[in-house]
Amino acid sequence: MYLCVKNALHLEALVDLLIEDERIVTMTPAGHQKLPENCEVFDAEGLVLMPSFIDAHVHLREPGFEYKETIASGLNAAVHGGFGSVMCMANTKPVNDNAAVTSLMLTKAQQSHPHGPRLYPIGAATKNLEGRELAPMGELKEAGCVAISNDGRPVQSSEMMRRIMEYAADFSLTVIDHCEDPTLADHWVMNEGEMSGLLGVKGQPAVGEALQAARDIMLAEYLGLPVHIAHVSSALTVDVIAWGKARGIAVTAETCPHYLLLDESALEGYNALCKVSPPLRSTKDRDALLRAVADGTIDILVTDHAPHALHEKMTALDQALVGFSGLDLAVTLTWGLVKEDLLPEDALHRLWARRPGEIFHLPTNGFAPGDPADFFLFDPHAVWIPSEENLYSKGKNTPFLGQELSGRVKHHWLGGKAIF
Ligand SMILES: [Zn+2]
Repeated sequence: MYLCVKNALHLEALVDLLIEDERIVTMTPAGHQKLPENCEVFDAEGLVLMPSFIDAHVHLREPGFEYKETIASGLNAAVHGGFGSVMCMANTKPVNDNAAVTSLMLTKAQQSHPHGPRLYPIGAATKNLEGRELAPMGELKEAGCVAISNDGRPVQSSEMMRRIMEYAADFSLTVIDHCEDPTLADHWVMNEGEMSGLLGVKGQPAVGEALQAARDIMLAEYLGLPVHIAHVSSALTVDVIAWGKARGIAVTAETCPHYLLLDESALEGYNALCKVSPPLRSTKDRDALLRAVADGTIDILVTDHAPHALHEKMTALDQALVGFSGLDLAVTLTWGLVKEDLLPEDALHRLWARRPGEIFHLPTNGFAPGDPADFFLFDPHAVWIPSEENLYSKGKNTPFLGQELSGRVKHHWLGGKAIF
């Protein structure tokens, strides 16, 4: 069974993409291809062709918090947002620290989305994420976990972090660390700086993130093992990562679209919808992060999709839960950076597909013959306003709710099969 997607825009060239069953056959300049017999043709005029993206950091809330999101609703948001693969964090209830929970997640994904997006669970680093006892990583890997993390519950003890890295390495699992020194700020609501002083609320200093990142990177060098720094939010952490990379240490890092687009001023008026962990920092931090994703110091983008019920966000700043719903909007938001000439278009492919595929050993589509036919078509001119009705995620908690945005995913194929 052949499919030809004709006249698509790919890195500013017009191309035809030929697919046989679940694989790419060729991508050629438009009109240069002699089509095989019995070839279905899809005219993609005016639409941008991109490889399906990988989101290496999402919270899908199932089991335990299905009122916020289910695996079915999360994967639905993913595929409509351009993601063909998502890696889900372990802070469910029960925590994903054993094979039974991992298997349950994979079964739910298979039931609701048999043709994808593919779900790749991340196992807990410690039992119940408590930081005291190592989780059974061999069992987690065997059940299908692709990485290890204590996300959301920073590992305070350096000795425990060392053991996590050593044990994970026995199973070739990369450790993803949420870097935050909890002793520097407890019960914070935003970044510590001028704005937190102005609002009279407790801030969290960026140095706490950089301190733990530095510790992790030094441990990585000492042990000769890799470490991946989660959702980097500050300029100082970027400097620490650049230092580690310059020394040849196996450190990789991620940040999220919101740290590239927003800063702490978004919390003016005590806007709880903009409360997130780590917090939005200064404009200087935002600019440093933009440079770091452009030059590769930060390897990948992730959403840190953290859906909550709106009543958990639309409340006093100190009561509101942290996190943004991200899967529906990430591609539109980062396309905006391309439109503003802050990132080249191929950087999106690198940050959202190629590098996460390399770091976590997941299949990606580089549009070469034999690659998986996972791709989507994006309408760069579609103007829309995210609302409670048109977001596929159950989590409507995004600071971009009600704002006019341009660009939207229109069609998505996974394994050569049209998902929508
Ligand atoms: Zn997270």
